[in-house]
Amino acid sequence: MTFLSGFIALVGPPNVGKSTLLNRILGKKIAIVSPKPQTTRNRITGIYHEKDCQMVFMDTPGIHKTQTPLHKSMVNSAQSAFKEVDLLVLMIEMLHPRPPEIPMILNYIRKSKKSSFLVINKIDKGPKEKLLPVIAAYNETHFFKSIIPISALTGDGVERLLGELKSMLSEGPAFFPADVQTDQTESFLVAEIIREKIFLHTRQELPYSSAVTVEHLEEVPKKKLVLITAKIHVESDSQKGILIGQGGKMIKHIGQAARQDLESFFGNHVFVELLVRVDKNWSRDPRTLRRLGY
Ligand code: GDP
Ligand code: MG
Repeated sequence: MTFLSGFIALVGPPNVGKSTLLNRILGKKIAIVSPKPQTTRNRITGIYHEKDCQMVFMDTPGIHKTQTPLHKSMVNSAQSAFKEVDLLVLMIEMLHPRPPEIPMILNYIRKSKKSSFLVINKIDKGPKEKLLPVIAAYNETHFFKSIIPISALTGDGVERLLGELKSMLSEGPAFFPADVQTDQTESFLVAEIIREKIFLHTRQELPYSSAVTVEHLEEVPKKKLVLITAKIHVESDSQKGILIGQGGKMIKHIGQAARQDLESFFGNHVFVELLVRVDKNWSRDPRTLRRLGY
């Protein structure tokens, strides 16, 4: 029996549903999903296993046009993903089929010379009549091996997508053992879960000016307990004030929401301590960015 394997990049504008698809394929919450754009800053690798194949997915941060070092680092990470993989999957939304980033992304795909698929996501959000012209328009470009409509939310079309990807894989080794679903460290995943809660509970500029580092992560198996201390880095005292909230209400809220997800992630009780630290201009300083893992 031949074994098939390959690396697959999931690219596309922010908020189209890349993390949702990855989570559905892997059946576990690995990439964070948020109603706000630009939440996935780092690349998340998820590994999908079948008896006779292995697909290693990279979820890329949204590609878009901005100037700060943080955004540049996100765009670089997406571009380098194009070079490292065997197949590219571009995702768009059925109801917004022509986001402004598309020409730039198509250009990157063309340069990479990799086989690529177009996934049209969120088909649950409207009638079929909306879908057909989108398929027709992209078909005319003769750009993609295949165009696959899906709903990452309901799972519609996801089996077909996996089948089409599989058919394009080459013979190759299993890169990871069958029980490994991600190569991200636990503390990275913990930081992502906490960051997701900051996104969900705060507004305006705060989510984009905060970063999370996990300072301490200790499993205490005897007590079925996981102890976590994480630092939330913000850019100003006023942001710190907002994040902590009146009488500590906001940070408590975030901590509780994070704890619920972390408990299902670890399958144990979790104690989370959140510290808030002002790191002036962390998102503009390349050194701080490196330290925070961007
Ligand atoms: P990403 O930025 O591309 O990784 O997008 P996310 O996976 O974080 O999803 C952004 C938002 O779109 C979230 O609120 C998801 O719940 C929602 N979403 C993702 N896929 C679907 C889908 O197939 N249908 C609908 N209705 N919503 C979706
Ligand atoms: Mg994402």
